[in-house]
Amino acid sequence: MSQLVLYLILVLPLVVTAQRQFYENKFTIGALFTKENTDAELAFKYAAQWHSLYSGDGTSYSTLVQKLPEGNTFASSKLVCNMTKTQNRLIAIFGPDSLKTSAIVQSICKKLEIPHIQTSWQPSTNYPPIIALNFYPAADLLAEGFATILKHMNWKSYAITYQRDEALIRLQGVLKIPESTDNPVTVRQLVQHGDNRPLFKLLKVSGITKIIMDCDTDDIINYLQQAKEVGLLNYPTSYLLTSLDAHTLDYSVLDTSANITMVRLFDPSNEHLVRHLKSWEVGEMRSNRNVATTPETVRTDSALMIDAVNLLIEAVNHLNKTEIISPRPMVCEESDTWEGGYRIAAYMKEHRLANPITGPIVFDQFGRRINFNLQLIELNSNLVKATWCPANGTRLNITINAKQRQQMILRSLQKQRIVVSSKLVDPYLMEVNASHASDSLTSRYEGYAVDLIELVARELNFTYVFTITESNGNYDESSGLWNGVVGDVVNGVAQLGICDLTITHQRRQAVDFSNPFMTLGISILYKKPTPGEANMFAFIDPLAQDVWMYTATAYLGVSVVLYLIARMAPGDWESSHPCDENPTELENAWNLGNALWLTMGSIMTQGCDILPKGISSRMAVSMWWFFSLLMTSSYTANLAAYLSKERLGVSINSVDDLVAQNKIKFGTLINGSTYEFFKESNYSKYQAVWNKMSGFKPSTFVGKNHEGVRKVLNKNQEYAFFMESASMEYEISKQCELAEIGDWLDSKGYGIAMPTDAPYRGEINGAILKYQESGALQTLKKKWWKELIKKEPCEIEETDEKKDDGLKLANVGGVFIVLGFGVTISFCIAVVEFLWNAKSIASQEGVGYCEVLKSEVKFAVNFWVIKKAVRAEAKQSTPLPEASHSEEVDDKGSFFNLQILPRINSSRSISALS
Ligand code: GLU
Repeated sequence: MSQLVLYLILVLPLVVTAQRQFYENKFTIGALFTKENTDAELAFKYAAQWHSLYSGDGTSYSTLVQKLPEGNTFASSKLVCNMTKTQNRLIAIFGPDSLKTSAIVQSICKKLEIPHIQTSWQPSTNYPPIIALNFYPAADLLAEGFATILKHMNWKSYAITYQRDEALIRLQGVLKIPESTDNPVTVRQLVQHGDNRPLFKLLKVSGITKIIMDCDTDDIINYLQQAKEVGLLNYPTSYLLTSLDAHTLDYSVLDTSANITMVRLFDPSNEHLVRHLKSWEVGEMRSNRNVATTPETVRTDSALMIDAVNLLIEAVNHLNKTEIISPRPMVCEESDTWEGGYRIAAYMKEHRLANPITGPIVFDQFGRRINFNLQLIELNSNLVKATWCPANGTRLNITINAKQRQQMILRSLQKQRIVVSSKLVDPYLMEVNASHASDSLTSRYEGYAVDLIELVARELNFTYVFTITESNGNYDESSGLWNGVVGDVVNGVAQLGICDLTITHQRRQAVDFSNPFMTLGISILYKKPTPGEANMFAFIDPLAQDVWMYTATAYLGVSVVLYLIARMAPGDWESSHPCDENPTELENAWNLGNALWLTMGSIMTQGCDILPKGISSRMAVSMWWFFSLLMTSSYTANLAAYLSKERLGVSINSVDDLVAQNKIKFGTLINGSTYEFFKESNYSKYQAVWNKMSGFKPSTFVGKNHEGVRKVLNKNQEYAFFMESASMEYEISKQCELAEIGDWLDSKGYGIAMPTDAPYRGEINGAILKYQESGALQTLKKKWWKELIKKEPCEIEETDEKKDDGLKLANVGGVFIVLGFGVTISFCIAVVEFLWNAKSIASQEGVGYCEVLKSEVKFAVNFWVIKKAVRAEAKQSTPLPEASHSEEVDDKGSFFNLQILPRINSSRSISALS
């Protein structure tokens, strides 16, 4: 008996201590799941097991997993209470992952003071009790992270599509971003398990190409498939998937060329994760089960579960060294609490996990995770483009260098067939092989644009197809839509737009442009000056018709006035014999003929043999001379200009010339950048062009460049075409009759259009710059502007000009005609005078008319006789000088010659006498 007592005294304490120690190192972790056999459950089980097996510190952790009925809070609370009542070593409860049941679990844990650990998203409004910890990033910080990412992506106009209402909390930061109405954001809810194609179609029709999608990870493929069916999953449509598990899906089924950006919380290649996965495999293999999960498909809740279990175990182990952790069964219905629970929760909040998988784990006082690393990745790329953690605030940490970024962009470019929108316009894009079945075949077309895009595609290693449209791109204010090449790029039909597409401010609002590959300016296309129709009477042109009329009237008027003045002026009455100082009679030389002769002589700058002597008559003549001086100088000055104008036809040298005249009509390509240039110009000169041009009836605007060129060449109309110099250069090298008039009105460039913020813009620019520097673009231009033009070379213009230098007979023939006409009339008058004289002699002498005429003709044609006898009648009144007697005159001749004595009152006679 005494031996038994001794035994009890010595051995029993040892047994009790050993048993107590055994229990103190054994703990149970409870977990609640709503779904069967999830990866998170495996992660939970094996993380706890891992520690028991490999830590070697003697503590072991068993797991207790319970399945909660989804949405049934009453049944869930029963299950949890049962767990706490039956488990005497329960140190913490994990889960559940359901928003509906987690609240009841949390309140039970709070009451019993059992640490409650969660690994799923909870709204930021739920501030957990101090006993709780959630390893999932705090909702408000996650929202901030998405907002920062979106700002960095620089999306202007986009759509937010979401599946569950709580997404609006998740995306609250994103929803706050839009600051201006210029960049509208469309928000649409996705129908769960329903047909969302109408929604995606609507987005497509609205021209939206950037979409944020917030939905369950398992529904992503389904939604994207629906988007694909309506054509909203092509390049360059971009998606931002907010699910932190989006990267675990297999997108190959979608065969998409869209840009899909995803966000994740951890790196799948993390060595601790890989090690844990191995333990799953080994563990499951023992139970003859396979694990299909790979590091790439591990979801966030599993990774968080591993970190959560590890942190709990590390915390309990540390605490266990300094104090006794003795959990016990607790009954929900009683006011039972476990004092150790708070210490574990508090220790977990302070403790830093040694090897976290999901990045640094820091909690705030409420157990919300406030430090984590979001990693930004693209579909089909393992490169993390950028990272964000709450400490970064509004800054994104870019983790790839320029080269990696370029490689990423190139890879995504090379993945798809780029659609290039263009317009048929010479020599940029011309159809060569219309028989090709498909429009998109590049072999169907040739031209500068084809060659240029080929160079760029070869440089960046992508393939492309063409889509043809009607215009370069106009904005319709009423519908707010773009058409043409720009419209194709805006609407996502094409990823690039190339033709004679001018970079304009308005277009730049809708699309991005590459660096200009060609520089140019607006200029005037017109026919080369050709000789106008020769006008023999061009010498009349320097003075207008009415000026001629007025001059002629003035001539007659002044002559008559001069005649009258001379008759009145005493100075013009002179002695008929200058030597006679006391004449008995005075005579006046100014009859109407002499007055006409003087005024004519003056205006012809020839002078006159008699001049007036009276003051008034001299004054009148001076005035006439002044008039004549100005008229003849003006006429002479204008004559040269008019004769050369006559020779070269109508000419314009600048926009001012064009606006100033009314003969030549002018226009532009309708709705092109040239048209817009004049329409929108604030410069008065170009406003004048626009006012005139837009007022022409019928309209002078054309639908195509070649129509404008045809109008210019049309001989039956005078038309000038405002055109861009590059295209003009091409037309001029094809048609010798065309010429560029004046200087460029502006300076701009052609660029390749692409969607706003297209990631490949830098690459395209790089390629263009490279070809510009190497001279390849110049060679291309030469090829299409010169070498491939099939036509006869133009005549060398210099020679033509030289040939044209002198005035031709056609230009001055009229002067000869006037001369000939005048001389002929004079001759006729002379003949009439001659006949009249013969008749007078015949009647005076009583001789036959024919006889007198014969004798007079005979005398007149006797060219060597230069003297003529004075008529007898005349001789009586005016004695003739002796020398007037002709030695060669016979009787008859002297008789006749006496008859043709000039009348004494003729001016010539007076002058001769004086
Ligand atoms: N390059 C012009 C455009 O992009 C078309 C030609 C023109 O307007 O003269 O609109």
